[in-house]
Amino acid sequence: MKTFDYLVIGGGSGGVATARRAAEYGARVALIEAGRLGGTCVNVGCVPKKVMWYAANIAHSLEDAAGYGFTLAGHDFDWPTLKQRRDAYVQRLNGIYDGMLEKAGVEVIRGFGRFVDKDTVEVDGQRYSAPHIVIATGGRPVVPETPGAELGITSDGFFELERLPRRVAVVGSGYIAVELAGVLRALGSEVDLLVRGEVLLRPFDGLLREELVTHMRDAGIQLCFRHQVRSLARQQDGSIRIDGEDGDGKPVQRMADTVIWAIGREAATDGLNLAAAGLNAGKHGVLETDEYQNTAVPGIYAIGDIVGKAELTPVAIGAGRKLAARLFRDQPDSKQNYDLIPTVVFTHPPIGTIGLTEEAARERHGEAVKVYSARFTGMYNALTEHKPRTAMKLVCVGKEEKVVGCHIIGTGADEMLQGFAVAIGMGATKADFDATVAIHPTAAEELVTLR
Ligand SMILES: Cc1cc2nc3c(=O)[nH]c(=O)nc-3n(C[C@H](O)[C@H](O)[C@H](O)COP(=O)(O)OP(=O)(O)OC[C@H]3O[C@@H](n4cnc5c(N)ncnc54)[C@H](O)[C@@H]3O)c2cc1C
Repeated sequence: MKTFDYLVIGGGSGGVATARRAAEYGARVALIEAGRLGGTCVNVGCVPKKVMWYAANIAHSLEDAAGYGFTLAGHDFDWPTLKQRRDAYVQRLNGIYDGMLEKAGVEVIRGFGRFVDKDTVEVDGQRYSAPHIVIATGGRPVVPETPGAELGITSDGFFELERLPRRVAVVGSGYIAVELAGVLRALGSEVDLLVRGEVLLRPFDGLLREELVTHMRDAGIQLCFRHQVRSLARQQDGSIRIDGEDGDGKPVQRMADTVIWAIGREAATDGLNLAAAGLNAGKHGVLETDEYQNTAVPGIYAIGDIVGKAELTPVAIGAGRKLAARLFRDQPDSKQNYDLIPTVVFTHPPIGTIGLTEEAARERHGEAVKVYSARFTGMYNALTEHKPRTAMKLVCVGKEEKVVGCHIIGTGADEMLQGFAVAIGMGATKADFDATVAIHPTAAEELVTLR
């Protein structure tokens, strides 16, 4: 048996961050990883997704070029080239993660970890123990029990596609569904988005949801709301028939070359033999923790997607670093703040959002809520044929009009939000926004001139 001060199960965003920090603080750390270092974010999440989003942006810019006087002498897009270059970039990142862990003095153990008891984890027959063990095993996409579901792929499979599918059905309404649908459409696929309910991005502010529907329809994505998929069946020509029901229970049939399930994610806690450590996972495999990432068993912690809240890379990293500081740097109050988390959805155009939606604010604060909003066409689109609208909203509360929510959809929203998140985190009021000199001409300036 090998012993350490800190055992980290999972080498994704949270695991790598906590392992490196703990080692920096002098702990003897081992990190167990069953797959590729970097986890979901680096291999099948944020990173390759953003590369694809950039590619889609280039496709949109090419469409806009004529408005600025460019005559493009035809252009081709080669998916295999993009995939090969994207995969090479991800591989470089895997190597960088390896190097960073080695430099930090973290021992990387390759293989799948399972608990033997509350202090011991086994990997391929070898046992490792530590007084502190953190579970950072992340999540994976859910595939439904629908007959023929195995004919579909998930976001993981999207990153394996060797060529651009001609006709795609994306099933889902969350951020991964709308992002993948947008990328595929921009790069040339015909895309149906099959949505069980009546809205996209359910927890988001109504303004964002409505505007996104318009943008997606303008882009040529077929939005099919109240559409329940019942089964998939392979056809003789290789395509997939999707049998479903519309909102009135009437049968509907669609065809696709590729079906992508984007209906949610579940925590990867099965296979860990949690019971041996005295732990139980809850619904969707989620492991509950207190605000300090403590599980029900002293000495075992959980961070990142498996705790089932704010499933984002910076949150996993933050929780991991804070935990390392608490355990190995004598900072007993160190904990991740789960309030006011800024989020971007990489649609076309992107969405940036933080804080309370108007709906939530009104429910919580009633009459004390005041909302400022604007819808306009950004200057870039003054000359382009396609004129996607930018929309913004500030949700304010009380006499002092404290800004409790900020919601943007439009070009640049992704980069715009970070700075505003700092201000809102510090408790900025509408008056503080108004007192800030605008940067002209930008879309962001609208947020400090709203009336
Ligand atoms: C398509 C997609 C797009 C996304 N885009 C964004 C984005 O734009 N911005 C953002 O902030 N977040 C994004 N996310 C979410 C982000 O990827 C996750 O929040 C983040 O990766 C969570 O980190 P984690 O450390 O909890 O787990 P993960 O990164 O999932 O890492 C878990 C690791 O644990 C390993 N593992 C699992 N079980 C075991 C075991 N028993 N033994 C050993 N190893 C094990 C896995 O192989 C994996 O490497 C996206 C996710 C997806 C799927």
